[in-house]
Amino acid sequence: MKWTKALIQTLRDDPADAEIDSHKLMVRAGLMKKVAGGLYTYLPLGMRTLNKVQKIVREEMDRAGAQEIVMPILQPAELWKTSGRWESMGPGMFRLKDRAQHDYALSPTAEEMVTDVVKSIVSSYRQLPLTVYQIQWKFRDEIRPRFGLMRSKEFLMKDAYSFDTSLEAADASYMAMFNAYKKVFARCGLKAYPVEADTGDIGGKFSHEFHVLADAGEDGIAFCDGCGYAANLEKAERKVCASLTSGKDSASLLMEVIPTPGAKTIEQVSKFMGVPGSAFVKSLVYSVDGTPVMVCVPGDRDVNEVKLKHFLGAKKVELADYETVLRATGANAGSVGPVNPADATLKIVADQELKGAKGCIVGANKDDHHIKNVDLDRDAKIGDYGDLVIVRDGDICAKCGKPMVIKRGIEVGHVFKLGTKYTDAFKAVYKNDQLAEQVMVMGCYGIGVSRTMQAVIEQSHDKDGIVWPASVAPYQVCISLLDPDKEDVAKVAFDLEAALEAEGIDVIVDDRAERPGVKFKDADLIGFPVRVVVGGKGLANGGVEVKRRCDDKSKMKLVPVAEAAAAIKEALGGLA
Ligand code: ATP
Ligand code: MG
Repeated sequence: MKWTKALIQTLRDDPADAEIDSHKLMVRAGLMKKVAGGLYTYLPLGMRTLNKVQKIVREEMDRAGAQEIVMPILQPAELWKTSGRWESMGPGMFRLKDRAQHDYALSPTAEEMVTDVVKSIVSSYRQLPLTVYQIQWKFRDEIRPRFGLMRSKEFLMKDAYSFDTSLEAADASYMAMFNAYKKVFARCGLKAYPVEADTGDIGGKFSHEFHVLADAGEDGIAFCDGCGYAANLEKAERKVCASLTSGKDSASLLMEVIPTPGAKTIEQVSKFMGVPGSAFVKSLVYSVDGTPVMVCVPGDRDVNEVKLKHFLGAKKVELADYETVLRATGANAGSVGPVNPADATLKIVADQELKGAKGCIVGANKDDHHIKNVDLDRDAKIGDYGDLVIVRDGDICAKCGKPMVIKRGIEVGHVFKLGTKYTDAFKAVYKNDQLAEQVMVMGCYGIGVSRTMQAVIEQSHDKDGIVWPASVAPYQVCISLLDPDKEDVAKVAFDLEAALEAEGIDVIVDDRAERPGVKFKDADLIGFPVRVVVGGKGLANGGVEVKRRCDDKSKMKLVPVAEAAAAIKEALGGLA
């Protein structure tokens, strides 16, 4: 490909709305162009990479025995009503009507539609197991579209769905996808870690997310070096150590109300009283499916709303509004606590670490007052204790007892065991060998194809630009032709291009009438894995210069023209 014929625009400046490096680089390297918030046009360079990622995904899906289909993006509301998700998906789903006023959704995912299709074709155990997949555009009305392709309104997803005769058989389908995912990400040059995850609104019993570690990641992940435990913070569990509770075990003193004027947060009250945050019980009032519930956690901890939701078996938990808090406790947020709330029937739940806590400080349910010397068993009516907090750095692994570390991750893929949530709703049944009808068992498996492409950049870039792995680079080789007007020099470049292309290597020849510095800067910005400099001076000195993007200048090699193709192949060979 000649650069002069390619639609390439590189930019000197970072786009104003880009917060993370990969987003800045995708725009500056001319891989994509913003249309509106969360919507992008993939330009030729970006499209080439997107296609390469898709090809890898397709090959690994096929190899794992999955069969490709494609389903409509426009999905009738009836399907979503059958599963109950027409309501539960809320405003995150784009909805529209046709001219006959029938309701539709733009597919945010496709469990409903695929179940409906498979149910209409599969009727016997002989047709199972079955895994189908598609690579299709998905739409989500994200609250905050940001970070370019990381969280966009329209994105490319590979979604696969498995159907099995039993839970055990479904485990095998799950593992086949799990292993295929490892291969997909490795082939994209990504280091992706499977971590235990919450199953979210999609339902189901068990799931893993694949995360690429990056400071810009939106998810927190707890890792244990001791046993390899890795879990999304939404799910991660810790072991409660006796030492954490014993600090609160002061003598059986009586409660004492103390004024704490103007101090609202634990930090402020702790400063005012001169005691550490860990001596406090943090109390928050939540609206749980519309009913107020007080949630108590150690003062230096945060509530994990996902765990809380599961613990209470609720559909929706959110912080209660100020009137509800006042009605339930008699005070405003900041002064509420588990001892004698105004509403004596108020349900109170607490984190397991607070079991048996004594000598602690709680809000007094009276504005600007706290109570000290509280013995939770003696003075409060805690309905239930559970694991309700977000784990943090240094917390003890529940599996092996070693301390955990918290890292940031980008979720590039997600595998779920779904059980019969959708097959029950759609009555997707098959006949077993006794001709008895049974419900199929499902799994679902997503890869954010467009997010993966950007995650590669987030993981592999430097101050000058992108450093593509060879497998998904838009072009693997860039020949910087320094004297495009000199016929003999140009011939060397184009002959080399032809020789490499004959071997299946993608090449772009920078034949622009630009200064060498401009060409090198652009090549580094776009991040072609191997750069070859072809110029009159170099040829006079004995050949062409070959350099890998990931190496510094000192590793540049001057190679005779006759050996150039072999040297380039060798340079590429060592790259992912
Ligand atoms: P997230 O937690 O990041 O919102 P999710 O758990 O809602 O993602 P899934 O329903 O599991 O996403 O979708 C499968 C994959 O699609 C995700 O692992 C992710 O890689 C990708 N994905 C999800 N939402 C977006 C988005 N708004 N933009 C780009 N990719 C996305
Ligand atoms: Mg997910």
